[in-house]
Amino acid sequence: MNATPRVLVSGGGIGGNAVAALLLRAGIPVTVVERATAPRPGGQAVDLRGPSREVAERMGIMPAIQRRRLDERGMLYLDDHGRENLRVPAELFDGKGGVADIEITRGDLNAILLDAVAETGGADYRYGESITDIAQDPAGANVSFASGATERYDVVIGADGLHSTTRALVFGPEPEFTTYLGGYMSFCTMDTPEGIQPHWFSMQSLVGATGLGFRPDADPSTCKALVIIRAPADPTLRRDTTAQQNLIRTRLSGGGALADLVVAAMSTTEDFYFDELSRVDLPHWSRERVTLLGDAGYCGSPLSGHGTAMALVGAYLLAGEIIAAPGDPVRALATYEQRMRPFVTTARRLPPGGLRAMTPNSRAGIMAGRAVSRLMTSRFMKPLVMRMLPESETETYRLPEYAA
Ligand SMILES: Cc1cc2nc3c(=O)[nH]c(=O)nc-3n(C[C@H](O)[C@H](O)[C@H](O)COP(=O)(O)OP(=O)(O)OC[C@H]3O[C@@H](n4cnc5c(N)ncnc54)[C@H](O)[C@@H]3O)c2cc1C
Repeated sequence: MNATPRVLVSGGGIGGNAVAALLLRAGIPVTVVERATAPRPGGQAVDLRGPSREVAERMGIMPAIQRRRLDERGMLYLDDHGRENLRVPAELFDGKGGVADIEITRGDLNAILLDAVAETGGADYRYGESITDIAQDPAGANVSFASGATERYDVVIGADGLHSTTRALVFGPEPEFTTYLGGYMSFCTMDTPEGIQPHWFSMQSLVGATGLGFRPDADPSTCKALVIIRAPADPTLRRDTTAQQNLIRTRLSGGGALADLVVAAMSTTEDFYFDELSRVDLPHWSRERVTLLGDAGYCGSPLSGHGTAMALVGAYLLAGEIIAAPGDPVRALATYEQRMRPFVTTARRLPPGGLRAMTPNSRAGIMAGRAVSRLMTSRFMKPLVMRMLPESETETYRLPEYAA
């Protein structure tokens, strides 16, 4: 078989672009198909936690990340009138709590990874393209695309997110592998409302199992609004922006001045994002020459705070194994999984109480949540809380060294 494998990546997001950059650097040709017609800017802050920081160092992208990292100093819990009720500086939990040591917008991290790809001479990027069929035989995989083309590859990497097409084509329908965690999350960019402090992640609980948040942007005059809604699963919301915004409008109605500003902003913003909170579980991430990377294979939902870390660590291990065994992709994919599983198991632990604790339903629940937050963020509780944080475990994971 071909000693230099031809690799196809489905999905030009965080995991897909990271694995492409690493493979290209080792001289392995990569084709990336991305369903969107161009890289999508913006997005909320994503966290670089645990060993993903070491991956960024080894990839040589840490200086660029440091230049564009957000100046996010901690969390502010707001009362019903939008006034500060509780302040939790990030250093209280050594940058391992709700606000991580390194935060960067998803769009900026994606742009840095695309720069890393460009520095290698570039991959064959095809925007507005996606896979429609994968037929494997012992020597390779024939892949058909929406454009009508068919091509042959040695390895296919499904890095196409929570609703992965690669997973559906090769492993089975989405409901077999996803567990709905009980709610939805939405983000958009908006002008920083008066009274919202720049550099702090402000959260407000609204009666009716709804959370409202404002996260800092690189430019302090704008911020990233965040809405968390606890609700039964509603399949009609998928890809229906009007229905998604109607749900948000209903939940935020009567929620006060900040809620009204978010409702007004979401219909004019260019980067409205809405998705369900779900976890993805597969007994194996690879089938012969096809493997899954990031949310496609092991999404833990944004509640875990480790989605980007898992995509970067996964990309590093997957590229490392393919480069180490270029003539034997099946073995490379099996070793990737074996090395990645322990990290995924710890990284997907949810914070205590999960979504229910973040979105109390009643006024009494909100008051109780505030009392618990005050207690848990007091300095004498720090040792106990630190032990409960997933990052205290994920940071002990040791990345393997690869010669390349
Ligand atoms: C537009 C967007 C905005 C996001 N904003 C945030 C955010 O603000 N905060 C946060 O915590 N997480 C956000 N996420 C999710 C976050 O990026 C991931 O959870 C995490 O980085 C893991 O990366 P990933 O590569 O597995 O998935 P992603 O970074 O989601 O990348 C998946 C990529 O696959 C593409 N894709 C999907 N289906 C197909 C297909 N059939 N064919 C080809 N390409 C396909 C998508 O367009 C996307 O570019 C966002 C994701 C997207 C797509």
